[in-house]
This record gives sequence, structure tokens and C-alpha cells, in this order.
Amino acid sequence: MAPSSRELERLAAGIRKRLLTMIYKGSGGHTGGSLSSADILVALYFHVMNIRPDDPAWPDRDRFVLSKGHSVEGYYAVLSKRGFFDDSVLDSYGTFNSPLAGHPVNKVPGIEVNSGALGHGLSVGTGMALAGKRDNKSYRVYVLMGDGEHGEGSLMEAAAAAGHYKLDNLTGIIDRNKLQISGYTEEILRIDDLRMKYEACGWAVRECDGHSMEELTAILKQGPFEKGRPSFIIAHTTKGKGVSFIENDAAWHHRVPSEEQYKLAMAELNRKLEELNHD
Ligand SMILES: [Mg+2]
Repeated sequence: MAPSSRELERLAAGIRKRLLTMIYKGSGGHTGGSLSSADILVALYFHVMNIRPDDPAWPDRDRFVLSKGHSVEGYYAVLSKRGFFDDSVLDSYGTFNSPLAGHPVNKVPGIEVNSGALGHGLSVGTGMALAGKRDNKSYRVYVLMGDGEHGEGSLMEAAAAAGHYKLDNLTGIIDRNKLQISGYTEEILRIDDLRMKYEACGWAVRECDGHSMEELTAILKQGPFEKGRPSFIIAHTTKGKGVSFIENDAAWHHRVPSEEQYKLAMAELNRKLEELNHD
């Protein structure tokens, strides 16, 4: 049976603790973006996607591409928790010869494609979805993108191609936290007209609270929103979500917490877990 929203919220709080521990102990990582996308990843991997962790190459699996490779720590934590590899592997993060690089690499079980050179993931996902159509497969393809990433024009080329080929087996998701490494997206390169752009390319667009498990699971399960059109979800999020002093601060895009900050963050997340266990 699929886990309840409350169970998914507990999982997400645990993922936040795990990714912060990786970043703290490994002395590097994408803190703000991993925290903002944690709920989306948990909803996909624990509720929505049809996958087999013990058989990562199962031909009929749903596909996922983390186009915004700049939140790989949360991705690794989710894959491990879902059973693709042992939790102890996460402890190697940040050490020499660790299989876990600073951006996604497809040598890690469960990861389809290398990413993190921004702007490429939607093209890869479009190819996977087109292959699925040509092969008469019923799998779905999910691509998670950043909002800062939408400064990359290549995403719009992929959006046009996906619309042209009527890839209604493709779902694009934007982690719309309104921040990128150097500041507010609307000050750096305005993308508030994103809905119009995707609709102009033939996509069906919906919006949701990217931290609400009820909304995320409902909307992610809905695809395709319209037959013959790829689906696009604008998931409104908070960069650094879950840790008060990390939220909404671009400086935490790639900042490592001090020992004191790490302890404070763990205490906040432990309190959240206690709340979730007692409500
Ligand atoms: Mg962002």
C-alpha cells in the first residue's frame, strides 16, 4: 500500500536530516536546493513512481531525471532510503574515491543519467519519453528542473520538441523556490511567464505547493493532465525548507553548516519529527 501523506512527511524530515549530515561531514554540497526539493523527491520515489529498487534497469520502470543536479545530496539520500543502495554508502560522500560525486552520475544504482551541467535534463527526458512512445511502453518520465536553471535556453528547445511529439508520457517539474546561486531569479533573468512559455510549446500546466504531500502526490499521479500534451508542474517551494536559518537565503545554495549550525538544524528537524509522530 502506498504510504500516507503523514508517513511521507516523516520520510522527508528524515531525508532532510540525512542530507544535512552528508553535507556537514563531507564538507560540501548543495544545501538550499536539496532541502527545497526533498518533498518532491520523496513523493515521486515513495508514492508515485513505478520502480523496482532491486532491479534498477527493469525495462518498464518509470524514469526520473534530476536536471537540477545541484541538489544531488537529497537525491542520494532518497535513493538509499528507497533501497537502491545501502545507507553506509552515503557516509562516503565527500571522500576520495566515493561513488557519490557532487553531481548525479549514472554509475550510482537508480540514477539514469549524468546531470548537473544545467539545461540538459529535459532534452534527455524528452528522448526517453519519445522512445517509450515508439516502443509502445507505458512508463512515465519525470524531469525535475530548477528555476535558476531556466536561464538555459536549451530547456525551451526540449519543451518545443516534447510538445511537437505530443509526449503525454512526460512530466516536467520546476522546483520554484525563486532563488538561484547569485540571488532572486526575477532579478537575474525573469521567468514568471513560464506558464505561458510551456503552454505555447503545447504543454498542459498546473501549479501546486511543493511542500504539501497531499498536493504533490495528487498532482504527480494525475499525469497526463491532457491527452496528447506533456505535463508541467510549477511546484512552489522555499529554498532551504525545513531549517529556519537556511530558508530563503541564497548564501545557503552551497554552504556547509558549522558544528553549531548543524546541531541547531538537527534539533529543528528532530522537533518536526516528534510533532509528526504525536499529531
Ligand atoms: Mg532555485
